[in-house]
Amino acid sequence: MSKKDSYELLGVGRDATAEEIKKAYRKLAVKYHPDKNPGDAEAEAKFKEVSEAYEILKDPEKRAAYDRFGHAAFQGAGAGGGARGGAGGGFTDPFDIFREVFGGGRAGGGGGIFDEFFGGSGGVAQGQEGSDLRYDLEISLEEAASGVEKEIRYRRAVVCDRCDGEGAEPGSRRVKCPTCGGSGQVTSNRGFISFRQVCPTCGGSGSVIENKCKKCGGEGRVTETSKLKVKIPAGVDSGSRLRSPNKGEAGIQGAASGDLYIVLHVKEHEVFERHGDDLYCEIPIKFTLAALGGTLSVPTLSGKGSLKIPAGTQSGTVFRLRNQGMPNIRSSQKGDQLVKVTIEVPKKMNDEQRKALENFAEVSGDPANPVADSFLEKAKRFFGE
Ligand SMILES: [Zn+2]
Ligand SMILES: [Zn+2]
Repeated sequence: MSKKDSYELLGVGRDATAEEIKKAYRKLAVKYHPDKNPGDAEAEAKFKEVSEAYEILKDPEKRAAYDRFGHAAFQGAGAGGGARGGAGGGFTDPFDIFREVFGGGRAGGGGGIFDEFFGGSGGVAQGQEGSDLRYDLEISLEEAASGVEKEIRYRRAVVCDRCDGEGAEPGSRRVKCPTCGGSGQVTSNRGFISFRQVCPTCGGSGSVIENKCKKCGGEGRVTETSKLKVKIPAGVDSGSRLRSPNKGEAGIQGAASGDLYIVLHVKEHEVFERHGDDLYCEIPIKFTLAALGGTLSVPTLSGKGSLKIPAGTQSGTVFRLRNQGMPNIRSSQKGDQLVKVTIEVPKKMNDEQRKALENFAEVSGDPANPVADSFLEKAKRFFGE
């Protein structure tokens, strides 16, 4: 696969400065960020592409190698990086780069030991990453068995579309912080000791917004109800967690978003009880069926199944229906369905039924109820009869 030119992707010239490259990337990353283009695979691919291009051009060494050899400079360098399931090919997760450019960096880095006394006062919130969110989702056992797609709605902070997350009113820009002159730190003297502290005006970033965005008040994010389609794989159980990257709260002023965790709860079923991948159910059968044998219609997850009941089946016998249980979430092999039959004795009988049974009792010889008869024998011996 031939890769596009990294300079072209970012729309900068070959002689662009590091600052120009960063700016160009920042613009494109906001434009193609998955948050702004939910479900748009093309935008996501583009986001990855520009992130990879920036990954090369931001690093003077990589850039020099790229200038000489093009993408061939990085082929075969697959080790490391790809582990996050991100861009692969030896590149780090594009979201890490996004975070870097958007100043996920902590306020006031590089200060002296006295920083801690003063740090945190004032606008430290800038660059603060968005928090993770949790959503509890209830599904039926049938849905857990087949897998299902659900649409959920939840409130969260999203990147403000008026200012693209920057917090500045369109047309206005970030200007050098008037308090610290752009250094991000201020110095104050107390006696002979001079303290350095994080600039309270800009929170250490060195720049402030000229005019705050009217929509978000400068936070770069607004709260709204988000819709999200969630694919739930077959075989999940209560407590299973699905992670949806970057679908948590947006960060402040363009900082990275948190993730959304969907925690699943499988509702109790009327018929089935779940034990791992096996399903268990109890079915009462007529005593005549147990004695004479026959076919029992059994509910299964895939509809109606049938079970052969052999003549002389005792109450409490458990039958196993192979592969009628839950799919295993890892192997997709299915568990079994276990059916325990209990024998129901009629509570009411009409005359004809009673006669038939009395007749049965009369014609029954010894072997009809072998267990009961042998118990009677034992009881007689016990009482010395
Ligand atoms: Zn400042
Ligand atoms: Zn805004």
